[in-house]
Order: sequence, then structure tokens, then C-alpha cells
Amino acid sequence: MSRIAYVNGRYLPMRTAKVHVEDRGYQFADGVYEVCEVRGGRLIDERRHLARLTRSLSELRIPMPMPLAALGVVLREVVARNRVSYGVVYLQITRGVARRDHAFPVPDVSPGVVVTARALNQVRNEALAAKGIAVISVPDNRWGRADIKTTGLLPNVLARQAAIERGARDAWFVDNGGNVTESASGNTWIVTQSGAVVTRPADHAILRGITRTVLLEVIKAQGLAVEERAFTLKEAFAAREAFITSASQIVMPVVRIDNRVIGDGKPGPIATALRREFHRFAEPG
Ligand code: PLP
Repeated sequence: MSRIAYVNGRYLPMRTAKVHVEDRGYQFADGVYEVCEVRGGRLIDERRHLARLTRSLSELRIPMPMPLAALGVVLREVVARNRVSYGVVYLQITRGVARRDHAFPVPDVSPGVVVTARALNQVRNEALAAKGIAVISVPDNRWGRADIKTTGLLPNVLARQAAIERGARDAWFVDNGGNVTESASGNTWIVTQSGAVVTRPADHAILRGITRTVLLEVIKAQGLAVEERAFTLKEAFAAREAFITSASQIVMPVVRIDNRVIGDGKPGPIATALRREFHRFAEPG
């Protein structure tokens, strides 16, 4: 079965799904995106993802290309046409097509909209989560608005590649002050020796993850102590547990950072419980 993509109003087989060479997404990474988990064929936390999309677009002054309800219909249609039961749906909106010039096009052009969906291997993901992953640390050399989910991901791409080349799976960004900001594609968390769950506040240095937002509710409901504050790499080395959150991984335990073993080198009880409980709090679409 050929995969189907939605491109600017049409559902097309992947091989014919194309965008213009002067799409500003291609030229300048002048666009934003969202990734939603699909579970049992349903979109998880669609409302929150579309709210964040609205904010990202507004920060970049890109107009919303269609009403949110219509966007929801397209997302579901792409999931259905690709028969994704467990996986992710990807939505990208760019400023549109215009002759290459850094300034915004005058007059306005229509935003470009692309949606794709992809099945993930649930058995493999669960096996990975049961084992935990290794990460490396890298300097956070991104721009000052990591809170906007733009398609400009080159530092994230290089960080992830560096991780793979060093035998790890992901990279944790560390700012000039020695504090962990987030990972190349997720939010970062530790559990301190006293049992507090710590994650960096959602300022301009990190993306306010939807998984992060929902997980904060799960943590509170579990009666665990939670601290939204900056934490250093040194503190992470000494943590009892560490983990990453994102829509595609939910809660992914981290068992090594820069080759140092975290806790006893196995996924900890808190990360494991939070992963198990997450979908009782997320909104199925
Ligand atoms: N931070 C970055 C840099 C990301 O790319 C992502 C997700 O892709 C996240 C955080 C987590 O966001 P969410 O939980 O909404 O997937």
C-alpha cells in the first residue's frame, strides 16, 4: 500500500506529493509543525497540539490556513488513509511560496500545508522503554525561541547524529550555565535522590511539550513531589532516575548520560509508572 500525504488541499501518493522549490519552508525553514501520537487509530491530545500550533503560527505571524476543525478532519483522514493504528501524524505549515527574499511576501501568500502519518512498531518501542536509552550531552547552540515549534531543526539534527555516532540514542542540550534545557526531540526530566521529579520551566529555552503538560498532571495525581526548575548536568548524573518525554516516545527512561550510569542502570519505578499511567490522563480524539 502506498503511503498517502495531504499537500495543499489534495491527498496524494507519497511519490507524487511535492512542494514548490520556492516554498519558504524549504528555503528558510519558515514554518511550524506538530507531531501527534496515534493510538488505536485515534489522535492523542489533538486539542492541545492544535492550541500549540495556533501559538507557534501566531509567534511567526503566519495565518492559520483553515479552521482548526477542518485541520482535525485532514489529520484524521491522513491517519485513516494510511491505516495507522499506532504511530504518529505529522503536520507542517509554512508561510507559503514566494520569490526568495528574506522579508515576508507582499502581498500575503497562502500558507503551505502538508500532513503525513506513519505507523510505529509498538513492540519495539515497549522493548526500548523496558531497557531504557543512553544519551549524550551537547552544548545548546539553538536560537533563543526554542519555545516555537519551527521546522528549523538543524542543531537538533546534528545533536541526534552526534549521539548515534557515539553509540547513544539521543542528546541532551546543556546551556551556558551548565543547565539541561531539553533533548533533541523531547523534554528532559530527573528524579532526585529525595524522590522529587524535576523538569525545567517552560521558558523560551524549551518547547512546552504536550506530553510534559499532561505528565505534570499525572505526577500530581500520583502524589509525587514535582519541581519545575532548572537542573544541571551534574545533578542529572547523580539522579535516581532520568527520562525524556515526547508525543512519539511518551516517557522514555534514560539509563546512561555521557556513559555514566543513572541510578542502577535500569528504568526506574517512577518513569515506569508514569509511562504506564500517561494515557489515563491524555485526551483521546
Ligand atoms: N522538545 C523538543 C525539542 C521536541 O522536538 C519535542 C517533540 O518533538 C518536545 C520537546 C516534546 O513535545 P511533545 O511532548 O509535545 O511531543
